[in-house]
Amino acid sequence: METTQADKERAYQNADPLIRSVQVLDCGRAEQHWEHRNGSPLPKLWWVFFGRRWVDLPLQAFLITHRDGLVLFDTGIDPAVQLDQGYIKQAIGRFLLPRIFRLHLTAEDRIDRVLHKSDVAPEEIKTAVISHLHFDHVGGIRHIPQADLLVSAEEWSILSEPHPEQDWILREHIEIPSAKWQQISFVPTDDPLFEGFEGIHDVAGDGSMILIPTPGHTRGSMSMLIRQEGWDPMLLVADLTYDAALMAKNVVPGVGDGPTLLASFAKVRKLQERLPNLAIIPSHDFCASKFIDHATGSAREPDGSVS
Ligand SMILES: [Zn+2]
Repeated sequence: METTQADKERAYQNADPLIRSVQVLDCGRAEQHWEHRNGSPLPKLWWVFFGRRWVDLPLQAFLITHRDGLVLFDTGIDPAVQLDQGYIKQAIGRFLLPRIFRLHLTAEDRIDRVLHKSDVAPEEIKTAVISHLHFDHVGGIRHIPQADLLVSAEEWSILSEPHPEQDWILREHIEIPSAKWQQISFVPTDDPLFEGFEGIHDVAGDGSMILIPTPGHTRGSMSMLIRQEGWDPMLLVADLTYDAALMAKNVVPGVGDGPTLLASFAKVRKLQERLPNLAIIPSHDFCASKFIDHATGSAREPDGSVS
């Protein structure tokens, strides 16, 4: 049988895939109010002060082993936020934080230690995609000074407002001298796959990791689409939702801008229609590793069912 060019390309790709693995990094554990995760008709301050139902909140980042180098999707939380009283400068922030989250962090939850546990040296990280600037996603940037830190220009513009810390964007831990921030703008595309999105940013230039704007949690939040031949596509959505099952039911969480979140949900749903089997993977969802194992085939039975 004759070998076609397409066969050759496929054989080449399989021998040396663009994406070799996607791993969930466990960056610690916290609790949040039930209303924070599941949404509430009550005002935010009500459940912050009087809410009595706490639910577990995993803090996760993702490590993508790309052919050209290691890529992080977010960098976790700095345990100093709990262990060092001076981490949050503003008294109001120090007062509110334990009322919004119960943190159960240890020094081992710092990104450099977390990476070491996966046999990765922090110096090996080439790029970190920062989904948004909240402190539980940028907490590790000082440990990867060599890495390019990709953030949306829209998200970065929040830093020029008078009080970004009121939205848990802590300037003093973001604008640090060692950080190699790169603001990205989304480029319009005529690829029908991304119809409805204002544009895309192709991280490696090969289509394997595509950033798309999914605002709502913060106004510059973005998600990353991961595609590798032989896998189901995956969309890392960060905090667009805390739970993929809630997003499927159009339930918005208790924080963020409701109408903007719903508009982003609708766009993601369209993407899901165009990419059957798209796995939606939030950063604070306990099912993240299960979704990834299923998408990459490592948790699939030979007949395709989930084990
Ligand atoms: Zn978060």
